Amino acid sequence: MARDEGWLAEHMLILGVESPTGEKTYVAAAFPSACGKTNFAMLIPPRSFDGWKISTVGDDIAWIKPRKEADGTTRFYAINPEAGFFGVAPGTSEKTNFNALATLKENIIFTNVALTDDGDVWWEGMTKEAPAHLIDWQGKDWTPEIAKETGRKAAHPNSRFTAPASQCPSIDPNWEDPAGVPISAFIFGGRRATTVPLVYQAFNWNYGVYMAATLGSETTAAAFGAQGVVRRDPFAMLPFCGYHMGDYFNHWLKMGHIVDQAPGIFCVNWFRMNEKGEFMWPGFGENMRILKWVVDRVRGRVHAKENALGWMPQYEDIDWTGSDVTKEEFEALTKIDAEAWKTELAGHKEWFEKLQDRLPKQFMLKRELFELAMSV
Ligand code: GDP
Ligand code: MN
Repeated sequence: MARDEGWLAEHMLILGVESPTGEKTYVAAAFPSACGKTNFAMLIPPRSFDGWKISTVGDDIAWIKPRKEADGTTRFYAINPEAGFFGVAPGTSEKTNFNALATLKENIIFTNVALTDDGDVWWEGMTKEAPAHLIDWQGKDWTPEIAKETGRKAAHPNSRFTAPASQCPSIDPNWEDPAGVPISAFIFGGRRATTVPLVYQAFNWNYGVYMAATLGSETTAAAFGAQGVVRRDPFAMLPFCGYHMGDYFNHWLKMGHIVDQAPGIFCVNWFRMNEKGEFMWPGFGENMRILKWVVDRVRGRVHAKENALGWMPQYEDIDWTGSDVTKEEFEALTKIDAEAWKTELAGHKEWFEKLQDRLPKQFMLKRELFELAMSV
């Protein structure tokens, strides 16, 4: 419907960034499943970001339509078509996502979680210590000792909650406005242990569409066995797109040019790892620092340095108040390894070949340009 009617139906969260002066900027972001949409949509800024507020419009789906402003120019407005949140329970705790847990106080449907002796719910990662006794998701007795012996989880790894969005403490006042909220930036990101830097901005709309079309995420050892296998998940839409991906890319290319103010397109990677296999970036609330740079970029008030991939912040361009991330660490997080990118670009080629003649022709050319830029 979106393709035929000239709008975008996307697998995206929508959030609002309010500055201490009350300036409001909305962004939409696409991360593949289990890559941090719900967390990002409900982000709580670091303590040092006094007066900054993040509000949640949606955590999973965005319907984005061009709309005329009072001054006659058009831009994208997004709505969240859903009434609630549908989230994976394991790992959700007051520590990892305070707003999500606060949403789960009442009116919730849980599936395949564990039951406590006093009739409450529990899942792995909710509290540091597991209760002494539970009924697990299969209806069997469960104790920490049984878990130790058999490896049996109390809650199914894909156990879920369904919650009314209106119960979320960070819900945006405009979340049900049928006109939507104006979108200033699109952010794309997956789980990449190497290669993809912490953040960069695409040169322009068409380059941004290329970046989103080649979005990849890595399988984690815990979930799949083989670590470090990059699976392409363009726009985080592979499981959901109802028509040919090549046609979908062409639709996106076209849509950027029918609005007068196209949003900036950014790529992020919260999941880069060091040699020890530890996350190099603290993530979660700390992502606010990167989000602020994104907002300042689209408002034209912060510096960025051009490189082979796009525009990137230098250490001085990020607000580090209250952070202990050093300049060396930031440089490791944003390093572009030419050899790794050659492998990455070979991966893009393989992926493009699958799409054959429906692939926008400019993608092959852009890929070659990236390859050239990486070899100088
Ligand atoms: P969604 O499926 O895209 O909505 O992803 P969630 O927000 O539910 O998060 C999926 C997993 O990624 C959870 O285990 C989170 O704790 C984890 N996660 C989310 N944001 C970050 C981050 O910034 N850094 C790290 N290291 N993990 C994160
Ligand atoms: Mn989610």
